[in-house]
Amino acid sequence: LIEIHGLSKRYGSHTVLDNVNLTVRPGEVTAILGPSGAGKSTLLRAINHLERASEGFIAIDGELIGYERRGNVLYELKEGAIRRRRASIGMVFQNFNLFPHLTVLENIIEAPVSVQKVPRAVALEQARDLLNRIGLSDKADAYPRQLSGGQQQRVAIARALALKPKVILFDEPTSALDPELVGEVLEVIKELATSGTTMVIVTHEVGFAREVADTVVFMENGRVLESGPPAQLFNAPAHSRLGEFLAKVL
Ligand code: ATP
Ligand code: MG
Repeated sequence: LIEIHGLSKRYGSHTVLDNVNLTVRPGEVTAILGPSGAGKSTLLRAINHLERASEGFIAIDGELIGYERRGNVLYELKEGAIRRRRASIGMVFQNFNLFPHLTVLENIIEAPVSVQKVPRAVALEQARDLLNRIGLSDKADAYPRQLSGGQQQRVAIARALALKPKVILFDEPTSALDPELVGEVLEVIKELATSGTTMVIVTHEVGFAREVADTVVFMENGRVLESGPPAQLFNAPAHSRLGEFLAKVL
């Protein structure tokens, strides 16, 4: 489903992503771990073409992200086409990023109605189903500021789901939350994993990664140092840097 080939990203002489290769299969959960500055967020942003690659490419279901191929040459897509492709990728950020002036329900239907041209009545019905799924039916008409952080993040997840994306990218979805609110958000993500949603999650929740991920990827200095099933990475890290990282976070 997602193929990342030889992806590099440089800011001037600073290499932030260094020849990253990664495949995410449909229905799989991939957890990305690594120290601060490893390039995890940059990688997620590149998948969404919020960040332009210096080298390499990313394809989702065979469609290049941000580019189209004509002969042997890649051409960058126009903003409208980028936005349409981006709609097949859900993104959930650390800080929820809900629209403060819209209610919960309006937040969820905004993109389906304005970008995907889903009829408002249909979008509303889907939004109510999603609210049910995340256990927030009673908050449909609340504004984000009236919700706890955990509730806001669950709404942000529902908003991403409303676009029926092929994949959802999470960038540290629980790291801005008070500890007692982390669990409810992880529960929602776990439920999505069980129902076969394809996800890439940058997280510091190692226990969660071990339990939920099909593949764990360890990054450092812009490189993927190791990837594989959680049992393999956590029980028998091949790379000494991963061993040191785990010793610090576990
Ligand atoms: P964290 O765990 O702290 O979120 P991360 O693994 O997500 O870290 P990134 O945010 O991807 O790391 O950043 C990787 C590196 O890229 C960092 O050294 C950062 O300073 C650098 N970087 C990111 N964005 C830019 C930019 N716009 N210009 C220059 N350097 C940048
Ligand atoms: Mg980051």
